[in-house]
Amino acid sequence: MSLTRSAAVLHRLSRGRGLATSSAPYDAVIIGGGPGGYVAAIKAAQLGLRTACIEKRGALGGTCLNVGCIPSKAMLNNSHLYHQTQHDLQRRGIDVGSVSLNLAQMLKAKDQSVVGLTKGIEVLFKQNKVDYIKGAASFVSPNRIAVKLLDGGETEVEATNIIIATGSEVAPFPGGAIQIDEKQIVSSTGALELQQVPGKMVVIGGGIIGLEMGSVWSRLGSEVTVVEFLGGIGGAGIDEEVAKQFQKFLTKQGLKFKLNTKVLSAEKQDGKVIVHTQSAKGDKEESLEADVVLVSVGRRPYTEGLNLEAAGVQLDNKGRIVIDDQFTTSAKHIRCIGDVTFGPMLAHKAEEEGIAAVEYIKHGHGHVNYNAIPSVVYTHPEVAWVGKTEQDLKAAGVQYNIGKFPFAANSRAKTNLDTEGFVKFLAEKETDKILGVHIIGPNAGEMIAEAVLAIEYGASSEDIARTTHAHPTLSEAFKEAAMAAYSKPIHF
Ligand SMILES: Cc1cc2nc3c(=O)[nH]c(=O)nc-3n(C[C@H](O)[C@H](O)[C@H](O)COP(=O)(O)OP(=O)(O)OC[C@H]3O[C@@H](n4cnc5c(N)ncnc54)[C@H](O)[C@@H]3O)c2cc1C
Repeated sequence: MSLTRSAAVLHRLSRGRGLATSSAPYDAVIIGGGPGGYVAAIKAAQLGLRTACIEKRGALGGTCLNVGCIPSKAMLNNSHLYHQTQHDLQRRGIDVGSVSLNLAQMLKAKDQSVVGLTKGIEVLFKQNKVDYIKGAASFVSPNRIAVKLLDGGETEVEATNIIIATGSEVAPFPGGAIQIDEKQIVSSTGALELQQVPGKMVVIGGGIIGLEMGSVWSRLGSEVTVVEFLGGIGGAGIDEEVAKQFQKFLTKQGLKFKLNTKVLSAEKQDGKVIVHTQSAKGDKEESLEADVVLVSVGRRPYTEGLNLEAAGVQLDNKGRIVIDDQFTTSAKHIRCIGDVTFGPMLAHKAEEEGIAAVEYIKHGHGHVNYNAIPSVVYTHPEVAWVGKTEQDLKAAGVQYNIGKFPFAANSRAKTNLDTEGFVKFLAEKETDKILGVHIIGPNAGEMIAEAVLAIEYGASSEDIARTTHAHPTLSEAFKEAAMAAYSKPIHF
């Protein structure tokens, strides 16, 4: 039975006759078609399980493809090109005359990338024989799920194994003091849809999403001020030295920062938004005027409408579904992956968990190394890291060596006139084992893959230093930072 057809048939059956049920239980039903859920569904089908994926958005790919990773990277890439054309091409010997922004076309290009990719997953579902059920899932009992179909009617499916992958949603501003309208006071979703470049934008929260979206609108001409309660930017997990350097680079690009500052409330006044702030110590108050305010204070797990009580699945006090180290919830045949449970809210983390959870179902074993999950900020320069930060190692009392190499000493970066940043290795003093790698610089997001592999394989910095890296490439800076950790670099 074809996937869309199966839902349609059930839907027809359901009209006027109450709930329809499929004949045999599925081996695996995945609730949620985001990066965690759709990857789990494809893997389950590949391993021979009769699989269905239930998704209520009307498009596959979840937050990541529809309102997250992909549209934000489309805007980051194209706003960077615009900014570079305006401010950087002339010194490279390229005169382009007058440059103007066609925002409507830039938004259209973003939407085209999203549609292309989400449709691509539907094709993958067909190829792998995953039944795609379009609707909202809700547990009726531990093994039965009712689905409110998007095109009307209801159906019910039964499954031997279930994986919950319902992801996360935008966290509201604490205490309800700021209401998001997605027009003037926006979340990341609204910030990807602004139809005009705001004159002034205030970004509440200096984490990854706030900095990426702030960068986009700053490059397109907005005067952007980032307000952050903590003393540094970049969110949890960033190395403090990198965060300081990052702030300097973004400041040079025109972003303003108010650190150690708490936002109290915001109100609309005469077409503007007034944001009221207070210093973290509480001794100073200030009001900022903006055309658009982006509230990016985090995301929270999403389980609305799932009726988890009927399945016996428990949440912790932060609303996350509780799992053990095999992704099993408090109901033994129900597993859970991605943003809706513990760990960093990242698409690649959700994907890895999706594969591992299915392998646990099929084979009884799976693998995710939580110490080797990279983080990337897709600004320019990019920032990427994996493993421990210097502050982590200090706090844990671990003795370590540092190896640093600046892109200003790397031949390719110099050739490309793109020399901001450095690579930083942290290796255990006694064994030289790589404990963390932090990169701020061009292509950091691609380069970090080598560090992830190194950590996955338990490599030493000498292992990297003795590995040939092509010349002239940015990755030679990576090798030289490894050399600096265990001995000395050549070019610095
Ligand atoms: C602006 C932004 C930029 C981001 N950039 C990056 C990035 O560059 N790299 C990165 O790794 N991560 C990024 N993320 C985070 C990334 O999007 C998430 O970590 C990832 O999408 C989580 O995947 P998931 O499968 O757990 O959940 P989701 O992607 O949230 O998918 C869950 C799906 O479940 C569906 N669902 C929920 N309840 C039900 C139900 N009852 N029935 C049926 N369907 C249901 C939802 O409709 C949704 O489509 C970004 C996020 C945002 C907001």
